[in-house]
Amino acid sequence: MEIIEKAPAKINLGLDVKGKREDGYHELDMIMASVDLSDRITVKEMPDETGIRLQSNSSFVPLNKKNHAYKAAVLIKQTFHIQKGVEIFIDKKIPIAAGLAGGSSDAAATLRALNKLWQLNLSQEALAKLGEQIGSDVPYCVYGQTARVTGRGEYVKPIANAKKPWVILVKPDFGVSTPEIFRHVNSETISHPDISSLEVAVMNGDIDNVLTYMGNSLEDVTIDKHPLILKIKNRLLSSGADGVLMSGSGPTVFALCYHEKKARRLCNSIKGFCDEVYLVRML
Ligand code: ATP
Repeated sequence: MEIIEKAPAKINLGLDVKGKREDGYHELDMIMASVDLSDRITVKEMPDETGIRLQSNSSFVPLNKKNHAYKAAVLIKQTFHIQKGVEIFIDKKIPIAAGLAGGSSDAAATLRALNKLWQLNLSQEALAKLGEQIGSDVPYCVYGQTARVTGRGEYVKPIANAKKPWVILVKPDFGVSTPEIFRHVNSETISHPDISSLEVAVMNGDIDNVLTYMGNSLEDVTIDKHPLILKIKNRLLSSGADGVLMSGSGPTVFALCYHEKKARRLCNSIKGFCDEVYLVRML
């Protein structure tokens, strides 16, 4: 038997770093939304074997115990004492170390796929709880869609999203390490977007207020190290984007467009400026 699960990328419409907790993690308040740029996870039983075999079409994905999909499989096998072998294939489409949660989404898709393959009947809540052990973005990725996410990522509240825009993702040709960016966060000096007002705007489909309240505490920190991000933002804004923000810890910048024609025009104009550009829909 073989199960295929989509693993969509996410963007942060809002990300507030509220402070550092005693356990060393930062307390976050975020509005996350999935977009239809997805990896695809295929899991297949390996008869007569007990291990985990991991493969991918991308030479940039680590094919070892550090892979988040591999960690998900180990966790499920250990928690439920499963002796069966499994082959996992990652069809990689999401840029790596881009602020789009590609690895976390692969882990969440692997949890969902193995839940089906081995008929574990686990609820989304149970899968999200397991996901916490793999990484902070994994619980959200189990749910996907649009959600307000708090704690270090462990509290996920799905919310309605009344107007889903076109999204242009622009990925500069360097990666960013999330822990490295968090090490440089000074919660006294960073910006603090108003996430509650953003949530209300998203739920009401109030485009003006979505654009007003979009914000990311980490943006200035990453721009300080990589000024190209600011250039991309300015370029997108001057080319007619409705709103522009860096996703997660970066470096991907996204532009929102509420009209398809404008989105296509903007996408074509930015392609001459940056190689890796995707035109997608919010899911
Ligand atoms: P986040 O937004 O959750 O911080 P990201 O989008 O910035 O994540 P990822 O693409 O998840 O970053 O990659 C972060 C690191 O995780 C990379 O160094 C990569 O080697 C490692 N990694 C482990 N498993 C995967 C996977 N399945 N796909 C991509 N990267 C993975």
